Amino acid sequence: MAGYPASVRIREVGPRDGFQNEPEVIATADKVRLIEMLVASGLKRIEVTSFVRPDVIPQLADGAAVLAALERPEDVAFSVLIPNERGLDNALRERERFDEISVFLSASETHNRKNVNRSIAESLDGLERVITTAIAEGLRCEGVIATSFGCPYEGEVSPERVLGIAERLAAAGCAEIGFGDTTGMANPLQVDGFFTGMRSQLGAEGPAGPELTAHFHNTRGQGLANAVAALGQGIDSFESSFGELGGCPVPAGSTGNIASEDLVSMLHEMGIETGIDLEALLAASRAVQDVLGRPLGAHLLSAGPVDWEPGGVGG
Ligand code: ZN
Repeated sequence: MAGYPASVRIREVGPRDGFQNEPEVIATADKVRLIEMLVASGLKRIEVTSFVRPDVIPQLADGAAVLAALERPEDVAFSVLIPNERGLDNALRERERFDEISVFLSASETHNRKNVNRSIAESLDGLERVITTAIAEGLRCEGVIATSFGCPYEGEVSPERVLGIAERLAAAGCAEIGFGDTTGMANPLQVDGFFTGMRSQLGAEGPAGPELTAHFHNTRGQGLANAVAALGQGIDSFESSFGELGGCPVPAGSTGNIASEDLVSMLHEMGIETGIDLEALLAASRAVQDVLGRPLGAHLLSAGPVDWEPGGVGG
């Protein structure tokens, strides 16, 4: 039987991974209100926006305004997604308002080219400069590797290739490496083998190794099964989106991250601590559903939390 971690850390990425991929542009005030509700639910890590070119992703053109309006409790880490050096320069104007950056590239050449119009080698060179500057500014860095488990254009992505990229990011100074199943191609058996190798090869068991984070999309409904497989390999850091918001710009039709409330519900039912108030998180998901004016994919939004005392009074 797998030994699961006693507690996990969850980074809510809905305000970035989610809002960027919804067709609507959400008003800045609504974003701020929703992020504040996420903070109130007990989430300690939130990716609040990104500094991408506003003509490319108009949904997040107000990144600086969102940061400026947000109050950041001391025990909450806000992160921003940084595509390149220019994005970091823009973000650094708000330096006092966030704690971490995420940088990203794909493990597949074709996906990387379609997503950021660079080769993997070019991406790594640029990101190493971004990471160096960010660390000098006292920022913590997460390197996210998209299409770590498979590519919609190239098919299989070898774990050795992912490992090579992860090693470069860790050597550049990333304290955390995120592995994205960007278009939901992974299965639990694959995830199990992937993290067995990755943990030992990246030295993640030791205190000096990077934190390893799993970032699953629910494109084919296997997101939570993959999360359990990762848990079984001792992975205790996850990224998810409230409401199951999100997707990926390429290819079209990629659907959302695993829903934060579905993940939290499952973990709590398994006796694994998250520090998150599920009802408060659900309130944030209902609020974003209202803002968007349509039902979102999270199961908990329709089913609600498990009730072990149906019909019971009080409690
Ligand atoms: Zn994602």
